[in-house]
Amino acid sequence: MEYVPRDHPRYRSLMEREKIIEGFKNGIVVINGLISQGRGEAFDYIIGEKTIPLAEDSIEVAVAMLLLSNYPVISVNGNAAALVPDEIINLSNIIDAKIEVNLFYRTEERVKKIVDFLKERGAKEVLGLEYVEGIPGLSSERRKVDPRGILKADVVLVMLEDGDRTEALKKIGKRVIAIDLNPFSRTSMAADVSIMDNVTRAIPLMIDKARIMKKLPKEELKKKISNYNNRRRLGEYIIYIKERLENEAKRLMSFP
Ligand code: ATP
Repeated sequence: MEYVPRDHPRYRSLMEREKIIEGFKNGIVVINGLISQGRGEAFDYIIGEKTIPLAEDSIEVAVAMLLLSNYPVISVNGNAAALVPDEIINLSNIIDAKIEVNLFYRTEERVKKIVDFLKERGAKEVLGLEYVEGIPGLSSERRKVDPRGILKADVVLVMLEDGDRTEALKKIGKRVIAIDLNPFSRTSMAADVSIMDNVTRAIPLMIDKARIMKKLPKEELKKKISNYNNRRRLGEYIIYIKERLENEAKRLMSFP
């Protein structure tokens, strides 16, 4: 990674790309994961590569939901493990959530690699190796879930997810929080709370918020959730993008 110069204006984004490439070389990320990353980068560019206030508010709603949950589970795939392994472990400890490896392109070898990778970095328990065919209506490998994890969960945090599975998780009664830079994706549309942000910014912010919000009374957490409407939020995200693009175009056109 040393060939990314530190003073490069897009250093952060390039480093994330390097992490995905390294994950690919180590067998954690599949080749399709490189395409997902590229799609995410495009949306990140459009929102200015920063956490916008609307996403920050959704993060607070998500944290409130996780803190109120009886059995929260963080679902991890190859890209998430490559990009934010330590942060996922940290968040799971703070909110007392299980971590489960769940892959679209599942091979037992890759599940084991990711489980071992997270354990080496300090995760006490990582689920995913034991599974039942727990999500009906899905033909992909993602129907396989751990009976002590997603199958039992009331709230599932997903990231870089495919839409089919988010919809299927909803059908079996799970509340789903999605981190997805694309507000048009089926995942964003199907989730109960959609966080339009890069996982590399969203998870650290969730950690900060969880530390503070843990001390709040339950009533206050419930109030935070009760006023939230995800469809409205998605609409607000899209209007934000439209206005940002419009302002950028006007700025360019005002200087010949
Ligand atoms: P859907 O089925 O939900 O419409 P998809 O299966 O076609 O989406 P994928 O290519 O699997 O989408 O990618 C998963 C999603 O993750 C994409 O919507 C992409 O924008 C988003 N994404 C990629 N990288 C990141 C990231 N670093 N942080 C947050 N979201 C990301």
